[in-house]
Amino acid sequence: MSKRRDFIKKAALGTVGLSTVIGCTDTSKKADEVNGTLPKTVKKPIVISTWRHGLAANEEAWSQLKKGAPALDAIVAGVGVPEADPNVRSVGYGGFPDREGKVTLDACIMNHNSDCGSVAFLEGIKHPIAVAKKVLDKTPHVMLVGEGAKQFALSEGFVEENLLTEKSKQAWKNWLEKSKYAPVINIENHDTISMLVLDEQGDIYGGCTTSGAAWKMHGRVGDSPIIGAGLFLDNDIGAAAATGLGEAVIRTAGSAMVVELMRQGKSPTEACKAIVERIYKKHANHKDLEYLQVGFIAVNKQGDYGGFSLRPGFDYAVFDEKNGNRMEKSEFKLSKNK
Ligand code: ASP
Repeated sequence: MSKRRDFIKKAALGTVGLSTVIGCTDTSKKADEVNGTLPKTVKKPIVISTWRHGLAANEEAWSQLKKGAPALDAIVAGVGVPEADPNVRSVGYGGFPDREGKVTLDACIMNHNSDCGSVAFLEGIKHPIAVAKKVLDKTPHVMLVGEGAKQFALSEGFVEENLLTEKSKQAWKNWLEKSKYAPVINIENHDTISMLVLDEQGDIYGGCTTSGAAWKMHGRVGDSPIIGAGLFLDNDIGAAAATGLGEAVIRTAGSAMVVELMRQGKSPTEACKAIVERIYKKHANHKDLEYLQVGFIAVNKQGDYGGFSLRPGFDYAVFDEKNGNRMEKSEFKLSKNK
């Protein structure tokens, strides 16, 4: 068993009962999924990430935090795991391409001082989250896109690589046969990884990285690199991040609104739910409704956390000292077929 797994096991075994069962990092098991059985308040630090690929990301981020790494570095390392994994088809290397067969990446990162860095429509660089952090650290700007973002990355020592794996290329060729654009709701491993961290000092950080919607138009940018849409935090209040149909999240400034509702006193789950309901209402007569799925995760300063999605199927990974690393199912509004 690797050292990392030992570490996780210890974290899980440091607790009693239920948490020893759920402190599991074997991503093939469903036994680690819980829904509403744990208190939604935990002692800081806490790391929360969207989807099942969040388990491995959390594990890496947690081990970095425990080594004393700054939270933003822990996020870069954590979400860097699915970015580098060719089997995660929605993030970084191996991500599904756009309709022209190009893998284009979006990412952003934000710290407790509201400093942000973001890249969008970036090609050929495996770790867009690390480039986003360089934008934060080394430029007077928040966001770089396309060729400019790539040139900046190369000047910072990043290496250009082909990110289109044979499997994703084949999937694209299959798609070309019909060339019908309709995002598929709730395909696990189809979605963005967003990670929120409440660190030991009580400060909040976040990051988000994705290859975006498969078969999108060349040049399309989703919500994920847009501060306020795919990710937002206010260190006085809390943080939120989104997954799902990026266009719907941009139209409604989704993550910023979740944070604002937490400011007004809603719990993270209540705030996520209210914004999902607002998005649903705004799209009642919209052409996107048939494939509309959105999900949010959120955490506040007190260590309360939660998530909510429009349709079933969304889950997120949560890691805290007492309960270890586990998947939690999001509550949702609609049944599948509505
Ligand atoms: N929100 C991402 C986008 O629209 C994709 C996702 O999270 O499913 O690019």
